[in-house]
Amino acid sequence: MVIVLFGPPGAGKGTQADLLKEKLDLQHLSTGDILREEVGNRSELGLSAKKFMDAGELVTDELIIEMIKNKMISNHKKNGFLLDGFPRTISQAEALDEMLNENSLKIDKVVSLEVEDDDLIERLLLRGRNDDNKETITNRLEVYKNQTLPIKEYYTQLGLLIRIKGNDSIEEVFKNIIKSI
Ligand code: AMP
Repeated sequence: MVIVLFGPPGAGKGTQADLLKEKLDLQHLSTGDILREEVGNRSELGLSAKKFMDAGELVTDELIIEMIKNKMISNHKKNGFLLDGFPRTISQAEALDEMLNENSLKIDKVVSLEVEDDDLIERLLLRGRNDDNKETITNRLEVYKNQTLPIKEYYTQLGLLIRIKGNDSIEEVFKNIIKSI
């Protein structure tokens, strides 16, 4: 089983991923978490990624695709994958299809967590991560709209997209996701 958690920064992807991976016994792959770990380890990848992350820009497709390929190869014990924060561009979505194809896998559902901009900004400011300052947040939302939103259409066309209202309580959102997949 392959589930993609989709949504803007601050929509609650990480929180729902933690619940879903337990419930469905899926290998959680969060590109944001993996990148932060690489930055922490001061690896070559981390050093290349950091400047993009600090600016709220996307890390290059090549780096991300290579990174996720490696993670998928080394993590195929569980029931499947729960992808969180990936794909974020059409190129990444196409590369993902290819990777899954090669492993006789396919996406089962793309869960889109829908939250209004004002709520997102409030949530991100409360979270207070390194890159959660007013300036970077504004840019990340802009980048999301320009580069990431088009994949929603891509997955809608493929009949994979499920829209879930993301500003209910954590439990309510989780219940609605489970009901719909
Ligand atoms: P996130 O934790 O998902 O909000 O990701 C934090 C930062 O990591 C983003 O602002 C990007 O700079 C970078 N990042 C995470 N996932 C991706 C991706 N799939 N493609 C490009 N950049 C990414």
